[in-house]
Amino acid sequence: MASSWLGARRQSLHLLKTRGFLLLKLSAAVLAVLLFCEFLIYYLVIFRCSWPELKTPEGAGTPGAPKAPEPVLRAMFLADTHLLGAIRGHWLDKLRREWQMERAFQTALWLLQPEVVFILGDIFDEGKWSSPEAWADDVGRFWKVFRHPPHVQLRAVAGNHDIGFHYQMDTYRIKRFEKVFNPERLFSWKGINFVMINSVALEGDGCDICSRAEAELLEISHWLNCSREHRPRGCGDRQWLPASAPILLQHFPLYRKNDANCSGEDAAPPDEKYTPFKERYDVLSWEVSRKLLWWLRPRLILSGHTHSACEVQHRAGVLEVSVPSFSWRNRNNPSFIMGSITPMDYALAKCYLPCEDMVLTTYCVAAGCLMLIMLIPTRLVSAPFHFGQRVLRKFKTM
Ligand SMILES: [Zn+2]
Repeated sequence: MASSWLGARRQSLHLLKTRGFLLLKLSAAVLAVLLFCEFLIYYLVIFRCSWPELKTPEGAGTPGAPKAPEPVLRAMFLADTHLLGAIRGHWLDKLRREWQMERAFQTALWLLQPEVVFILGDIFDEGKWSSPEAWADDVGRFWKVFRHPPHVQLRAVAGNHDIGFHYQMDTYRIKRFEKVFNPERLFSWKGINFVMINSVALEGDGCDICSRAEAELLEISHWLNCSREHRPRGCGDRQWLPASAPILLQHFPLYRKNDANCSGEDAAPPDEKYTPFKERYDVLSWEVSRKLLWWLRPRLILSGHTHSACEVQHRAGVLEVSVPSFSWRNRNNPSFIMGSITPMDYALAKCYLPCEDMVLTTYCVAAGCLMLIMLIPTRLVSAPFHFGQRVLRKFKTM
Protein backbone atom coordinates (compact mmCIF):
# COMPACT_ATOMS: atom_id res chain seq x y z
CA MET A 1 0.00 0.00 0.00
CA ALA A 2 2.79 2.37 1.05
CA SER A 3 4.94 1.41 -1.96
CA SER A 4 2.12 2.12 -4.42
CA TRP A 5 1.55 5.49 -2.74
CA LEU A 6 5.28 6.26 -3.06
CA GLY A 7 5.25 5.18 -6.71
CA ALA A 8 2.30 7.42 -7.52
CA ARG A 9 4.00 10.31 -5.74
CA ARG A 10 7.23 9.74 -7.70
CA GLN A 11 5.27 9.69 -10.94
CA SER A 12 3.43 12.89 -10.19
CA LEU A 13 6.71 14.56 -9.19
CA HIS A 14 8.32 13.43 -12.40
CA LEU A 15 5.33 14.69 -14.42
CA LEU A 16 5.48 18.02 -12.63
CA LYS A 17 9.21 18.28 -13.34
CA THR A 18 8.70 17.47 -17.01
CA ARG A 19 5.91 20.00 -17.31
CA GLY A 20 7.98 22.65 -15.51
CA PHE A 21 10.87 21.99 -17.86
CA LEU A 22 8.53 22.24 -20.85
CA LEU A 23 7.14 25.53 -19.54
CA LEU A 24 10.66 26.85 -19.15
CA LYS A 25 11.50 25.85 -22.71
CA LEU A 26 8.30 27.50 -24.01
CA SER A 27 9.04 30.72 -22.12
CA ALA A 28 12.55 30.75 -23.58
CA ALA A 29 11.10 30.24 -27.07
CA VAL A 30 8.60 33.11 -26.59
CA LEU A 31 11.40 35.37 -25.35
CA ALA A 32 13.60 34.41 -28.31
CA VAL A 33 10.82 35.23 -30.80
CA LEU A 34 10.15 38.57 -29.09
CA LEU A 35 13.85 39.40 -29.04
CA PHE A 36 14.14 38.59 -32.74
CA CYS A 37 11.01 40.46 -33.91
CA GLU A 38 11.35 43.51 -31.69
CA PHE A 39 15.08 43.98 -31.53
CA LEU A 40 17.44 41.83 -33.60
CA ILE A 41 15.51 42.14 -36.86
CA TYR A 42 16.36 45.86 -37.06
CA TYR A 43 20.07 45.05 -36.85
CA LEU A 44 19.81 42.26 -39.43
CA VAL A 45 17.87 44.40 -41.93
CA ILE A 46 19.70 47.74 -41.51
CA PHE A 47 23.09 45.99 -41.49
CA ARG A 48 22.58 45.36 -45.22
CA CYS A 49 22.42 49.11 -45.95
CA SER A 50 25.56 51.02 -46.83
CA TRP A 51 26.43 54.58 -47.75
CA PRO A 52 26.37 55.10 -51.52
CA GLU A 53 29.63 55.69 -53.34
CA LEU A 54 30.09 58.96 -55.21
CA LYS A 55 30.57 58.58 -58.96
CA THR A 56 33.20 61.29 -59.31
CA PRO A 57 36.40 60.51 -57.47
CA GLU A 58 36.91 62.54 -54.35
CA GLY A 59 38.93 65.68 -55.00
CA ALA A 60 38.21 65.77 -58.76
CA GLY A 61 37.70 69.50 -58.98
CA THR A 62 39.21 72.06 -61.34
CA PRO A 63 42.07 70.83 -63.54
CA GLY A 64 45.46 71.40 -62.01
CA ALA A 65 44.03 71.89 -58.54
CA PRO A 66 45.60 69.78 -55.82
CA LYS A 67 43.67 66.60 -55.33
CA ALA A 68 42.63 67.26 -51.77
CA PRO A 69 39.72 64.94 -50.99
CA GLU A 70 36.43 66.78 -50.71
CA PRO A 71 34.74 66.11 -47.41
CA VAL A 72 31.73 63.85 -47.77
CA LEU A 73 28.68 64.57 -45.64
CA ARG A 74 26.66 61.54 -44.61
CA ALA A 75 23.04 62.62 -44.36
CA MET A 76 19.97 60.58 -43.52
CA PHE A 77 16.59 61.73 -44.84
CA LEU A 78 13.30 60.51 -43.44
CA ALA A 79 9.74 61.77 -43.64
CA ASP A 80 6.22 61.52 -42.25
CA THR A 81 6.86 59.93 -38.88
CA HIS A 82 3.32 60.93 -37.78
CA LEU A 83 3.78 60.41 -34.04
CA LEU A 84 0.22 59.89 -32.84
CA GLY A 85 -1.32 62.51 -30.58
CA ALA A 86 -3.86 62.54 -27.77
CA ILE A 87 -7.00 62.25 -29.93
CA ARG A 88 -6.42 59.93 -32.86
CA GLY A 89 -5.22 56.37 -32.74
CA HIS A 90 -5.35 53.62 -30.17
CA TRP A 91 -2.77 53.68 -27.35
CA LEU A 92 -1.48 50.27 -28.46
CA ASP A 93 -1.02 51.56 -32.00
CA LYS A 94 0.89 54.55 -30.62
CA LEU A 95 3.07 52.35 -28.42
CA ARG A 96 3.85 49.90 -31.23
CA ARG A 97 4.62 52.51 -33.92
CA GLU A 98 6.84 54.54 -31.63
CA TRP A 99 8.72 51.44 -30.50
CA GLN A 100 9.27 50.43 -34.15
CA MET A 101 10.49 53.91 -35.13
CA GLU A 102 12.70 54.16 -32.06
CA ARG A 103 14.33 50.80 -32.73
CA ALA A 104 14.78 51.58 -36.45
CA PHE A 105 16.23 55.03 -35.79
CA GLN A 106 18.52 54.02 -32.94
CA THR A 107 19.80 50.98 -34.86
CA ALA A 108 20.42 53.11 -37.97
CA LEU A 109 22.31 55.68 -35.88
CA TRP A 110 24.44 52.96 -34.31
CA LEU A 111 25.18 51.02 -37.50
CA LEU A 112 25.38 53.80 -40.09
CA GLN A 113 26.67 56.75 -38.07
CA PRO A 114 25.13 59.63 -40.05
CA GLU A 115 26.35 63.16 -39.38
CA VAL A 116 23.03 64.84 -39.97
CA VAL A 117 19.43 63.64 -40.01
CA PHE A 118 16.73 65.53 -41.85
CA ILE A 119 13.04 64.90 -41.20
CA LEU A 120 10.87 66.17 -44.02
CA GLY A 121 7.71 67.15 -42.17
CA ASP A 122 4.61 65.60 -40.60
CA ILE A 123 6.66 64.65 -37.61
CA PHE A 124 3.53 64.78 -35.45
CA ASP A 125 0.09 63.65 -36.47
CA GLU A 126 -1.91 66.15 -34.47
CA GLY A 127 0.33 69.24 -34.25
CA LYS A 128 -2.29 71.04 -36.29
CA TRP A 129 -4.85 70.93 -33.47
CA SER A 130 -3.10 69.70 -30.32
CA SER A 131 -3.43 71.63 -27.05
CA PRO A 132 -0.24 73.03 -25.42
CA GLU A 133 -0.22 70.06 -22.99
CA ALA A 134 -0.67 67.47 -25.75
CA TRP A 135 1.98 69.22 -27.86
CA ALA A 136 4.46 69.13 -24.93
CA ASP A 137 3.74 65.41 -24.48
CA ASP A 138 4.22 64.73 -28.22
CA VAL A 139 7.49 66.67 -28.26
CA GLY A 140 8.77 64.77 -25.20
CA ARG A 141 8.05 61.44 -26.88
CA PHE A 142 9.65 62.65 -30.10
CA TRP A 143 12.95 63.39 -28.35
CA LYS A 144 12.83 59.98 -26.71
CA VAL A 145 12.26 58.15 -29.99
CA PHE A 146 14.70 60.27 -31.99
CA ARG A 147 17.35 60.85 -29.32
CA HIS A 148 20.81 61.23 -30.77
CA PRO A 149 24.34 62.04 -29.62
CA PRO A 150 25.35 65.73 -29.70
CA HIS A 151 27.66 65.28 -32.69
CA VAL A 152 24.68 64.24 -34.86
CA GLN A 153 22.53 67.13 -36.05
CA LEU A 154 18.79 66.72 -36.43
CA ARG A 155 16.96 69.20 -38.64
CA ALA A 156 13.30 69.24 -39.58
CA VAL A 157 10.90 71.09 -41.84
CA ALA A 158 7.26 71.63 -40.98
CA GLY A 159 4.48 69.60 -42.58
CA ASN A 160 0.74 70.14 -42.75
CA HIS A 161 0.20 67.82 -39.75
CA ASP A 162 2.70 69.83 -37.68
CA ILE A 163 1.27 73.30 -38.25
CA GLY A 164 -1.92 72.66 -40.23
CA PHE A 165 -2.74 73.21 -43.87
CA HIS A 166 -2.71 76.80 -45.11
CA TYR A 167 -6.22 77.48 -43.77
CA GLN A 168 -5.31 76.14 -40.28
CA MET A 169 -1.74 77.43 -40.05
CA ASP A 170 -1.06 80.44 -37.83
CA THR A 171 1.94 82.20 -36.30
CA TYR A 172 1.40 80.44 -32.95
CA ARG A 173 1.68 76.96 -34.48
CA ILE A 174 4.68 77.92 -36.61
CA LYS A 175 6.47 79.48 -33.63
CA ARG A 176 5.90 76.48 -31.36
CA PHE A 177 7.24 74.18 -34.09
CA GLU A 178 10.27 76.43 -34.58
CA LYS A 179 10.88 76.50 -30.84
CA VAL A 180 11.43 72.74 -30.96
CA PHE A 181 13.28 72.55 -34.26
CA ASN A 182 15.94 74.92 -35.48
CA PRO A 183 14.14 77.56 -37.59
CA GLU A 184 17.18 78.28 -39.80
CA ARG A 185 16.09 78.21 -43.42
CA LEU A 186 19.60 78.12 -44.82
CA PHE A 187 22.06 75.65 -43.41
CA SER A 188 25.60 75.08 -44.71
CA TRP A 189 27.85 72.26 -43.68
CA LYS A 190 31.02 70.86 -45.26
CA GLY A 191 30.57 73.31 -48.15
CA ILE A 192 27.03 72.09 -48.88
CA ASN A 193 24.04 74.44 -48.77
CA PHE A 194 20.66 73.17 -47.63
CA VAL A 195 17.54 75.31 -47.96
CA MET A 196 14.80 74.18 -45.61
CA ILE A 197 11.41 75.39 -46.77
CA ASN A 198 8.13 75.78 -44.96
CA SER A 199 6.18 74.57 -47.99
CA VAL A 200 2.82 74.93 -46.21
CA ALA A 201 3.38 78.70 -46.36
CA LEU A 202 3.87 78.60 -50.13
CA GLU A 203 0.20 78.90 -50.99
CA GLY A 204 0.96 81.89 -53.20
CA ASP A 205 -2.15 83.81 -52.12
CA GLY A 206 -0.28 86.77 -50.60
CA CYS A 207 -1.36 86.05 -46.99
CA ASP A 208 0.93 87.55 -44.31
CA ILE A 209 2.73 84.31 -43.50
CA CYS A 210 3.01 83.43 -47.20
CA SER A 211 4.39 86.86 -48.12
CA ARG A 212 6.99 86.65 -45.36
CA ALA A 213 7.97 83.13 -46.48
CA GLU A 214 8.40 84.26 -50.09
CA ALA A 215 10.39 87.35 -49.06
CA GLU A 216 12.65 85.12 -46.98
CA LEU A 217 13.20 82.78 -49.94
CA LEU A 218 13.99 85.72 -52.24
CA GLU A 219 16.56 86.90 -49.73
CA ILE A 220 18.11 83.41 -49.60
CA SER A 221 18.11 83.28 -53.40
CA HIS A 222 19.92 86.63 -53.55
CA TRP A 223 22.47 85.50 -51.00
CA LEU A 224 23.08 82.22 -52.80
CA ASN A 225 23.49 83.99 -56.14
CA CYS A 226 25.98 86.45 -54.67
CA SER A 227 28.00 83.56 -53.27
CA ARG A 228 27.89 81.64 -56.53
CA GLU A 229 28.92 84.62 -58.60
CA HIS A 230 31.66 85.61 -56.19
CA ARG A 231 30.35 88.84 -54.77
CA PRO A 232 29.20 90.97 -57.67
CA ARG A 233 27.94 94.46 -57.04
CA GLY A 234 24.91 94.90 -54.82
CA CYS A 235 25.75 92.00 -52.54
CA GLY A 236 26.97 94.06 -49.59
CA ASP A 237 29.43 92.78 -47.02
CA ARG A 238 27.56 89.66 -46.06
CA GLN A 239 29.49 86.55 -45.29
CA TRP A 240 29.83 84.33 -48.31
CA LEU A 241 28.19 80.96 -48.51
CA PRO A 242 29.80 77.95 -50.15
CA ALA A 243 29.48 78.41 -53.91
CA SER A 244 27.64 75.13 -54.58
CA ALA A 245 24.02 74.84 -55.71
CA PRO A 246 21.70 74.17 -52.76
CA ILE A 247 19.75 71.06 -51.82
CA LEU A 248 16.08 71.84 -51.19
CA LEU A 249 14.28 70.16 -48.32
CA GLN A 250 10.52 70.53 -48.01
CA HIS A 251 7.36 68.69 -47.06
CA PHE A 252 5.11 69.17 -50.11
CA PRO A 253 6.59 67.92 -53.38
CA LEU A 254 6.98 70.27 -56.32
CA TYR A 255 4.12 70.19 -58.76
CA ARG A 256 3.54 66.93 -60.63
CA LYS A 257 0.33 65.66 -62.22
CA ASN A 258 0.27 62.34 -60.43
CA ASP A 259 2.52 59.43 -59.50
CA ALA A 260 2.01 57.60 -62.82
CA ASN A 261 5.74 57.68 -63.65
CA CYS A 262 6.87 56.51 -60.26
CA SER A 263 8.27 53.02 -60.00
CA GLY A 264 9.80 50.76 -57.40
CA GLU A 265 8.42 48.50 -54.71
CA ASP A 266 7.47 51.43 -52.48
CA ALA A 267 5.88 53.62 -55.15
CA ALA A 268 2.17 54.45 -54.83
CA PRO A 269 -0.12 51.40 -55.43
CA PRO A 270 -1.45 51.05 -59.00
CA ASP A 271 -4.96 52.22 -58.08
CA GLU A 272 -3.59 55.49 -56.64
CA LYS A 273 -0.89 56.24 -59.20
CA TYR A 274 -3.18 57.86 -61.75
CA THR A 275 -5.23 59.92 -59.29
CA PRO A 276 -4.52 63.57 -60.20
CA PHE A 277 -2.72 65.53 -57.49
CA LYS A 278 -4.45 68.57 -56.10
CA GLU A 279 -2.29 71.69 -56.20
CA ARG A 280 -1.66 73.27 -52.75
CA TYR A 281 -2.94 70.07 -51.10
CA ASP A 282 -1.01 67.09 -52.48
CA VAL A 283 1.73 69.09 -54.21
CA LEU A 284 2.82 72.72 -54.48
CA SER A 285 1.17 74.79 -57.16
CA TRP A 286 2.74 74.88 -60.60
CA GLU A 287 3.59 78.62 -60.23
CA VAL A 288 5.29 78.24 -56.84
CA SER A 289 7.20 75.18 -58.07
CA ARG A 290 8.56 77.17 -61.05
CA LYS A 291 9.51 80.04 -58.71
CA LEU A 292 11.43 77.75 -56.38
CA LEU A 293 13.37 76.20 -59.26
CA TRP A 294 14.06 79.63 -60.75
CA TRP A 295 14.98 81.44 -57.53
CA LEU A 296 17.08 78.80 -55.84
CA ARG A 297 18.46 76.78 -58.81
CA PRO A 298 18.83 73.65 -56.66
CA ARG A 299 20.77 70.55 -57.64
CA LEU A 300 18.57 68.15 -55.68
CA ILE A 301 15.17 68.29 -53.97
CA LEU A 302 13.88 65.97 -51.24
CA SER A 303 10.27 66.04 -50.12
CA GLY A 304 7.74 63.99 -48.15
CA HIS A 305 3.94 64.13 -47.75
CA THR A 306 2.93 61.44 -50.29
CA HIS A 307 4.07 58.53 -48.02
CA SER A 308 5.22 56.73 -51.20
CA ALA A 309 8.47 56.83 -53.12
CA CYS A 310 8.99 58.63 -56.40
CA GLU A 311 11.80 60.13 -58.44
CA VAL A 312 10.98 63.07 -60.68
CA GLN A 313 13.30 64.88 -63.09
CA HIS A 314 12.49 68.59 -63.24
CA ARG A 315 13.86 70.96 -65.81
CA ALA A 316 17.66 71.16 -66.20
CA GLY A 317 17.85 67.61 -64.87
CA VAL A 318 17.11 68.54 -61.25
CA LEU A 319 16.13 65.39 -59.40
CA GLU A 320 13.36 65.37 -56.81
CA VAL A 321 13.08 62.40 -54.49
CA SER A 322 9.84 61.79 -52.63
CA VAL A 323 10.86 60.12 -49.39
CA PRO A 324 8.32 57.49 -48.21
CA SER A 325 6.90 57.50 -44.72
CA PHE A 326 9.14 56.25 -41.89
CA SER A 327 6.13 54.91 -39.96
CA TRP A 328 4.72 51.37 -40.15
CA ARG A 329 1.34 52.99 -39.64
CA ASN A 330 1.52 54.31 -43.19
CA ARG A 331 3.54 51.62 -44.91
CA ASN A 332 4.28 47.91 -44.75
CA ASN A 333 7.86 48.63 -45.86
CA PRO A 334 9.09 51.99 -44.54
CA SER A 335 12.50 53.26 -45.54
CA PHE A 336 14.84 56.21 -45.39
CA ILE A 337 17.29 57.77 -47.80
CA MET A 338 21.03 57.78 -47.24
CA GLY A 339 23.00 60.51 -48.98
CA SER A 340 26.75 60.86 -49.49
CA ILE A 341 27.08 64.52 -50.40
CA THR A 342 29.95 66.80 -51.39
CA PRO A 343 29.70 70.44 -52.53
CA MET A 344 29.63 69.34 -56.19
CA ASP A 345 28.23 65.85 -56.16
CA TYR A 346 25.86 63.52 -54.40
CA ALA A 347 24.85 59.86 -54.36
CA LEU A 348 21.68 58.50 -52.81
CA ALA A 349 20.65 55.06 -51.63
CA LYS A 350 17.54 53.74 -49.97
CA CYS A 351 17.59 51.72 -46.77
CA TYR A 352 14.51 49.54 -46.26
CA LEU A 353 13.32 48.70 -42.79
CA PRO A 354 11.78 45.36 -41.71
CA CYS A 355 8.45 44.59 -43.42
CA GLU A 356 5.48 44.48 -41.07
CA ASP A 357 4.16 41.39 -42.93
CA MET A 358 7.35 39.49 -42.23
CA VAL A 359 7.24 40.31 -38.52
CA LEU A 360 3.57 39.33 -38.23
CA THR A 361 4.17 36.10 -40.17
CA THR A 362 7.06 35.25 -37.83
CA TYR A 363 4.79 35.79 -34.83
CA CYS A 364 2.00 33.65 -36.35
CA VAL A 365 4.32 30.78 -37.28
CA ALA A 366 5.96 30.92 -33.83
CA ALA A 367 2.55 30.97 -32.10
CA GLY A 368 1.40 27.96 -34.21
CA CYS A 369 4.55 25.99 -33.38
CA LEU A 370 4.23 26.76 -29.68
CA MET A 371 0.59 25.67 -29.65
CA LEU A 372 1.53 22.38 -31.27
CA ILE A 373 4.35 21.82 -28.79
CA MET A 374 2.01 22.60 -25.91
CA LEU A 375 -0.69 20.26 -27.15
CA ILE A 376 1.40 17.30 -28.26
CA PRO A 377 3.67 16.77 -25.25
CA THR A 378 0.86 16.51 -22.70
CA ARG A 379 -0.12 13.28 -24.38
CA LEU A 380 3.36 12.26 -25.41
CA VAL A 381 4.69 12.94 -21.97
CA SER A 382 1.86 11.28 -20.10
CA ALA A 383 1.50 8.30 -22.48
CA PRO A 384 4.80 6.59 -21.56
CA PHE A 385 3.93 6.87 -17.89
CA HIS A 386 0.55 5.25 -18.30
CA PHE A 387 2.15 2.57 -20.41
CA GLY A 388 4.91 1.97 -17.84
CA GLN A 389 2.38 1.91 -15.03
CA ARG A 390 0.31 -0.69 -16.82
CA VAL A 391 3.35 -2.88 -17.55
CA LEU A 392 4.52 -2.69 -13.92
CA ARG A 393 1.09 -3.61 -12.57
CA LYS A 394 0.99 -6.53 -14.96
CA PHE A 395 4.32 -7.85 -13.72
CA LYS A 396 3.27 -7.40 -10.09
CA THR A 397 0.09 -9.38 -10.53
CA MET A 398 1.98 -12.15 -12.29
ZN1 LIG B 1 1.71 65.96 -45.18
